[in-house]
Amino acid sequence: MAAIDMKNIVKEYGDGFLAVNDVSIDVQDGEFMILVGPSGCGKSTLLRMIVGLEDITGGEMMIGDKLVNDLAPRDRNLAMVFQNYALYPHLTVYENIAFPLRLAHVPDAEIDRKVRDASKTLELDEHLDRKPGNLSGGQRQRVAMGRAIVREADAFLFDEPLSNLDAKLRGQMRTEITRLQKRLGITTVYVTHDQTEAMTLGDRVAVLKRGVLQQLATPRELYENP
Ligand code: ADP
Ligand code: ADP
Repeated sequence: MAAIDMKNIVKEYGDGFLAVNDVSIDVQDGEFMILVGPSGCGKSTLLRMIVGLEDITGGEMMIGDKLVNDLAPRDRNLAMVFQNYALYPHLTVYENIAFPLRLAHVPDAEIDRKVRDASKTLELDEHLDRKPGNLSGGQRQRVAMGRAIVREADAFLFDEPLSNLDAKLRGQMRTEITRLQKRLGITTVYVTHDQTEAMTLGDRVAVLKRGVLQQLATPRELYENP
């Protein structure tokens, strides 16, 4: 069973414009899936339908064995990692990671255990008292992932997380994201318009063009059969 199974997904905006047109993608457990294509090809719309921020016009969106078409975002147990990381500048690293657990009124002792476990995995344990403003881009990215980890989300969803960074930092962050994703083994869907990112990060790449799925293949297969 796929972790996230998109079956014949359609998104229609306004009168008849199909932003996503009959797209089927099976994201396997622990897989790093890339959605790539030029601006306007429908990749953000597709990601937003996975997370529940956009209504689905047609098709079936399965998460595990559950049909989630009509499920609110909070009932899908997915973690979106935003481009600007959406960290709170006035809170410490510890409190930034703890934030979703505080909202959910999780007991302090359990919060403490989860935050410390996550920050060990993410190699942030020495930075728990710092504020986001004093962290490197890579450390900030890890705090954002820490927040997703403590929620024990079933999958990470990234929407062009590196597009505002310079080339050097982008390269470092790619390495970092891949390393962490493999270590955590968490199912990931990652949207980018950047071919290099698509070919270096993904286990498989879904290539979209004008809302239509053109190819669904491993980077190696795409190199050999572009
Ligand atoms: P991408 O993420 O690949 O750049 P999007 O998913 O943002 O593409 O958009 C896909 C298409 O749907 C584009 O043509 C865009 O203009 C259109 N679109 C996106 N959001 C809306 C909306 N709220 N209303 C109408 N059209 C939209
Ligand atoms: P609340 O509604 O409890 O005040 P939020 O509005 O922050 O809290 O979140 C509502 C629900 O949305 C959460 O229970 C969580 O499941 C989900 N959620 C929060 N942040 C994210 C995120 N970054 N990505 C995906 N889902 C999220």
